[in-house]
Amino acid sequence: MVDDLDWHSPLPPGFAWPEGIRAAACFSFDLDAESPILFEHPEAVDWLDVMTHQAYGPRTGVPRLLRLLDRVGVRATFFVPGYTAERWPAAVCAIRDAGHEIAHHGYLHEGARGLSAEEQEVAIVRGLDALNRVAGVSPVGYRAPMWESSPDTAAMLLRHGFRYDSGLMDADHPYLLGTDVGTIVELPIHWSLDDWEPYVYLPGISGSGVIASPTEVVARWTLELDAMTDEGGLFMLTNHPFVSGRPSRAAALEGLIRHAQEIEGLWIATAAEIAAHVAALPLDPVFHQRPPLPG
Ligand SMILES: [Zn+2]
Repeated sequence: MVDDLDWHSPLPPGFAWPEGIRAAACFSFDLDAESPILFEHPEAVDWLDVMTHQAYGPRTGVPRLLRLLDRVGVRATFFVPGYTAERWPAAVCAIRDAGHEIAHHGYLHEGARGLSAEEQEVAIVRGLDALNRVAGVSPVGYRAPMWESSPDTAAMLLRHGFRYDSGLMDADHPYLLGTDVGTIVELPIHWSLDDWEPYVYLPGISGSGVIASPTEVVARWTLELDAMTDEGGLFMLTNHPFVSGRPSRAAALEGLIRHAQEIEGLWIATAAEIAAHVAALPLDPVFHQRPPLPG
């Protein structure tokens, strides 16, 4: 229904950033490592080329990205599958010890498509248990693996104590997502602000074989950052340590972060910090209606 649509302002009624802030940016990293490959292609467990391609994230990318984030003085949010935490505990604890936020990203990177609500919930509980056991962390944020959510996901997150989700695509700014059991903050994302699409090439598994230049990728992210800032929205960048932890990509990302730091009135924060601000705003929740199938 669009009969109450107010097109005069880019922001919904009641939405405001903190005093002096006109937009926000969050630099997030999904520490997938081997998990998405093992979920989709369990036969690849013995493909050492593919397993090492993914292990680059925790083994080489994470240390480089932690040094980068330390240099620029930015705290980021890392979404970590439970399986990754169990397999790479030192990387996950190093992220925690450097002061970054650790959030939930499934257990074995299970997308919701093809899973029942019960199976989704098992993955959420197993991921929570792994993050707690390995890093002593109780995450408040969730990002659905492959951003695959179902109508059951938000209520399930609320039942398990989460305060935000970051995986829906229908807004530029955070909002309150309504469910039968309460509201949860949504921090929207988009495929164009994900490093997987331009950079990843795993023959037979993912990617077209065309690997973009970091100069070109960061140029397009910069366009979106500047335009999103002008619109007062949230620039939520999603990177993966096995992808953007490579040297020239990390160097280009550092340039983008330094550009963001020069923008007046741009709040660079963790997802949890942004969600805590939004949760306190007087916003009407958005209830996602299933579109009617044409008869
Ligand atoms: Zn992922």
